[in-house]
Amino acid sequence: MYKLNDPTLLRCHSYINGSWHASEKLLKVTNPATGEVVAEVSDASIQETNLAVKAAKSALKMWAATPAGQRAGLMRKWFDLMMAHQDDLATLLTLEQGKPLAEAKGEIAYGAAYIEWFAEEGKRAYGDTIPALTSDKRIVVIKQPVGVVASITPWNFPNAMIARKAAAALAAGCTFIGRPASQTPLSALAMAELAERAGIPAGVFNIVVGNDAQGIGKVLTQHPDIAKFTFTGSTGIGKKLIAQCATTVKKVSMELGGNAPFIVFDDADVDAAIQGALVSKYRNAGQTCVCTNRIFVQSGVLDEFTEKFSQAVQQLQIGNGLSDGVAIGPMISEKAVADVEQLVKDSVAQGAKIAVGGQVDNNGSHFYQPTILTNVSNEMPIAKNEIFGPVSPIIAFENEEDVISMANDTEYGLAAYFYSRDIGRVWRVSEALDFGMVGVNEGIISNAAAPFGGVKQSGNGREGSKYGLDDYMEIKYLCMGGI
Ligand code: NAP
Repeated sequence: MYKLNDPTLLRCHSYINGSWHASEKLLKVTNPATGEVVAEVSDASIQETNLAVKAAKSALKMWAATPAGQRAGLMRKWFDLMMAHQDDLATLLTLEQGKPLAEAKGEIAYGAAYIEWFAEEGKRAYGDTIPALTSDKRIVVIKQPVGVVASITPWNFPNAMIARKAAAALAAGCTFIGRPASQTPLSALAMAELAERAGIPAGVFNIVVGNDAQGIGKVLTQHPDIAKFTFTGSTGIGKKLIAQCATTVKKVSMELGGNAPFIVFDDADVDAAIQGALVSKYRNAGQTCVCTNRIFVQSGVLDEFTEKFSQAVQQLQIGNGLSDGVAIGPMISEKAVADVEQLVKDSVAQGAKIAVGGQVDNNGSHFYQPTILTNVSNEMPIAKNEIFGPVSPIIAFENEEDVISMANDTEYGLAAYFYSRDIGRVWRVSEALDFGMVGVNEGIISNAAAPFGGVKQSGNGREGSKYGLDDYMEIKYLCMGGI
């Protein structure tokens, strides 16, 4: 059982144009740890999505014209409310998504930090003056909001993936429509409740909850009144949505899948590397896009790393995210568990060995044990695919050149990590890794001040940092003549 300090944060209808919009059909939200129904929410359709587009379009002129300082004030109130209700927001998040409560609290603070950060950054959307080529002209560059922004986000970070996008959009002067994953709408709706309490005007922040991902997705990627579409999710769906956006030439940003290498060199601080690997791999039961996917360990420290890492992983407690001391919650669905099981099975058939775990857990069919595989090669299914579960494949290597080539041998390019205490190697490897983000002696790298995003098939655009605001702004060139 759970209890919210403020039960009105549990909202069950889409939030469109400043009001709660009931739909005829209902969508069940279930707790992945227990299978219990947490809530039944209105299942919006294409019709409601069109209403949200209309609302966002109507509010755009007013919000874009609101001075950045005023927008920042409202966003700051929104941030304060999210932090004031951190415990309740975290409880809702754990109930619908499963991650341990402490991690859920961390996600609320992480998501809110983007709102605080961009509230400030919106005040600094500076333009430029450029020396003209002739004396009778002046060249001026101004930045303006892109327009209406639409987003589709996944279930693994039900609060932060929306916050990262909406914060930059609202700070830039854009209006926003978010469509959360159908498994995890409650966090998004609670954010809308708090946006309303903060005084964010009607139509500026809208949340459409609906099971018809394809139908709603078509509206959000093809409606002519939407200027920008931003997606976080799998590379496969991302590719489809990019193609849909082409019909109206939308500005697009994509945060897609990853296959992060985690490299431990002979000269690393092995204990620090183990701590880094634990958080980077097992957080959210391995279901994050920046999760370590392949652990490469140089031969000189292979035995020490494997032994100490195995001991640490055996200590991770698995169970319901609301229970004290739990480090590994349920996976989002039985299908997610089955996919991980299959990857492990196929890799074992090719010679991988199970050092720790390797089973569906006694807690139930949504739980997979924290697992370590040894004797893995970079060609095995567990290394080639995004695992999205609590499994660490350990791959041995001999030298720097080989490991860089193996690490880069993937279509993905989101996050990479390595541990070394050699300053020359730190620079060489940082520059040689084909990834958008590199953690050097660090397993957790994402924060509001830093540019989050990938290269290759992990997407385009950046979220967070001064670069993140530009994704929501257009550059306009003014040629001042007759001077
Ligand atoms: P997914 O299947 O691509 O789903 C993501 C979102 O897209 C969900 O809201 C889903 O709705 C929606 N969707 C699915 N099919 C759609 C369609 N045809 N048209 C429009 N929307 C559609 O991804 P997932 O498996 O849920 O999430 C995990 C993936 O996200 C991983 O690959 C992970 O790496 C990636 N991810 C990336 C980042 C990043 O920042 N780079 C962050 C987090 C996750 P439903 O929920 O209703 O199916």
